[in-house]
Amino acid sequence: MPSGTQARKRVLSGMRSTGKLHLGNYVGALANWVRMQDQYECFFFIADWHALTTDYADTSRVKENSIEVLLDWLAAGLDPERCTMFIQSHVPQHAELHLLFSMITPLGWLERVPTYKEQRENIADKDLGTYGFLGYPVLQAADIAMYKGDFVPVGEDQVPHVELTREIVRRFNQFYQLSGKAIFPEPQPLLTPAAKLPGTDGRKMSKSYGNTILLTDPEPVVRQKLKTMVTDPARVRRTDPGNPDVCPVGDLHKIFSNPATIAKVNEGCRSAGIGCIECKGWAADALVNILNPMQERRKKYEDNPRLPWDILESGSAKAGKVADATMTEVRAAMGMSLDYEAGRGTGK
Ligand code: SF4
Repeated sequence: MPSGTQARKRVLSGMRSTGKLHLGNYVGALANWVRMQDQYECFFFIADWHALTTDYADTSRVKENSIEVLLDWLAAGLDPERCTMFIQSHVPQHAELHLLFSMITPLGWLERVPTYKEQRENIADKDLGTYGFLGYPVLQAADIAMYKGDFVPVGEDQVPHVELTREIVRRFNQFYQLSGKAIFPEPQPLLTPAAKLPGTDGRKMSKSYGNTILLTDPEPVVRQKLKTMVTDPARVRRTDPGNPDVCPVGDLHKIFSNPATIAKVNEGCRSAGIGCIECKGWAADALVNILNPMQERRKKYEDNPRLPWDILESGSAKAGKVADATMTEVRAAMGMSLDYEAGRGTGK
């Protein structure tokens, strides 16, 4: 933590506007963002343009989806007094910087991004052979560079994206400087500890697998989802001992339960002293404990829908000021300032 005299380092991160968030989003990113609010100067944005790179054909829910994400952020504890939250498309300077970065980014860099090939093969029901989809890491680079972020919190699998941002920024800095000085710092990935969070079917929790527990799921739904959750296959009968280390419910306990419950699960599962139904009930208790206060906070904003919108508006205004300052520098460094310059363009 920097001392009081030292400016806080800046962190920039975004989440696609996918609608209601699930526990995997919470554990993988959001819980960490909530912790970072006091340590860093944080800018968090809802990436609605990024959502268009795959969901361009139907934009009817883009705005609702963005608001749902914001409500979940507020529910989880992001505080507009301690961080800046905004929607990407409300700060259109991102598009300008994206365009300028796209001029200098070699195609080969984008075709090599591991998720590019992977997603094109995996998402078979959409045509992802678009310019926007190939270029989304360039937009991501613009999102980060715009705020001259020191750090970008990411999981291990996202490190190549931050690396690409660093390469684009480096190339920009080589071509263009302001009074001989580089404009953009190279952002560093801030590795977030990635807890393994399985979905109800034991695979990684993901909307596309239909195995999620939403932050907005009411208690009976949480309990029902837990009931159907897969367990250690070795426990066929109640008398068969099991192993919480290979059981998705065991993984939930490790993240959400207190040490006493974890000890009870460890002992009881391995000795067949407890049944899976009982064990799942304890896991559900732990989840409900976390989700209840979130849902209460969310309700406050749902009941007063102007309030979250106001938060977005003031977040966009704050982000827009920083973005304006950056773009003024960028345009000047590229010899494209909007200002009148005496003697330029007169042939003299
Ligand atoms: S007792 Fe709990 S940890 Fe053990 S297999 Fe059953 S659900 Fe999983």
